[in-house]
Amino acid sequence: MFVYADNAATTAMSSAAAAAMLPAMQTLYGNPSSLHQKGREANMALLGARETVARCLNAGPQEIYFTGCGTEADNWAITEGARLGAEAGKKHIISDTIEHHAVLHTLKKLEKQGFEVTYLPVHENGVVRLEELEAAVRPDTCLVTIMFCNNEIGTLQPVREIGALCRQKGILFHTDAVQAIGHVPVDVQKDNIDMLSLSGHKFHAPKGVGALYCKKGIRLKNFIEGGAQERGRRGGTEAIPAILAMAAALEESCAHLDENMAKVTAMRDRLIEGLSRIPNSRCNGDPDHKAPGIVSFCFEGVEGESLLLRLDLAGICASSGSACTSGSLDPSHVLLALGLPHEIAHGSLRLSLCEYNTMEEVDYILEQVPEVVRTLRQMSPVWLHMLEHMDDPYQ
Ligand SMILES: *Cc1c(COP(=O)(O)O)cnc(C)c1O
Repeated sequence: MFVYADNAATTAMSSAAAAAMLPAMQTLYGNPSSLHQKGREANMALLGARETVARCLNAGPQEIYFTGCGTEADNWAITEGARLGAEAGKKHIISDTIEHHAVLHTLKKLEKQGFEVTYLPVHENGVVRLEELEAAVRPDTCLVTIMFCNNEIGTLQPVREIGALCRQKGILFHTDAVQAIGHVPVDVQKDNIDMLSLSGHKFHAPKGVGALYCKKGIRLKNFIEGGAQERGRRGGTEAIPAILAMAAALEESCAHLDENMAKVTAMRDRLIEGLSRIPNSRCNGDPDHKAPGIVSFCFEGVEGESLLLRLDLAGICASSGSACTSGSLDPSHVLLALGLPHEIAHGSLRLSLCEYNTMEEVDYILEQVPEVVRTLRQMSPVWLHMLEHMDDPYQ
């Protein structure tokens, strides 16, 4: 059996996205800035895609800026939020310890430029506390950036309440919603969001396209210098086929959000229940504030990379934490932020599902993972050492 359970790293393109993209690649080749008919045709398609994306977020089309990826949207929003703050003499930013590196590394850059950043703790359940956010606010706080849904452990942050607090204090609020868009309801108005990042390839659109929502009235300046595209804010000829595919994928995800959430949640819950039966295992992240598709586990005495390799041999595509950190031997900053010791954080497994997965696949995962964990433990010096201090749970 083959099971793709790494949807938080990237998703397969949907038929709707491909159906929008393929003809666009061959027929809509005009440059939307050109005045002739081919240009106008491409421009019309672009306008339509912008309207679709806006509608799915409950935003206005003039509040949507297409970007090359989610990372670019994060960089742009945070850099601009900081610049606007500095203009008003405010150079303090609030974030948290489990953000994606697109956010964390942008904040590091700003710290080098003289901004001060408070990183809120997320505690054992992976969720920021509102009272701690409120306590961290200072007269010079200009920006709060807190992700909607974490990509490694799937925890959802109390975005609406965070947004309300920021509104009340007059602070800009940005959220990295890359793992939320297309997977859970997001409404920029109800959720009190000023700026939001999204990425197409996390909801069945192709790689290489994303968007930034920026609320009307925020004096966003361009991040990439160039032509007059995106109302002069983001130069570069628009990637029409990818943008159309993203709009089609988003429209489809939003139209089927409730049924997809119900289906994926049922699979996730079965997965969590089954994996929890493995001795000395731990499910990471607050089960009550969790995205439908993301499951994160740690298995004591098991090394995450070996687990992944063995699962790959069994036909299961999973990951240890985020795809971006694999290749480095450091344990995930997210798992460490939950207070897990290094040796436990090393034995992590992330399985991320989407509506294309099936219960049969979940059952196959539940056959394979316990076997692989058991085999690896039999070969693990760490596990054998642990057995000297506890009763063997496999006996
Ligand atoms: C994938 C991801 C990103 C980066 O998006 P790209 O389009 O791959 O640049 C940013 N934030 C989160 C939470 C992600 O999961």
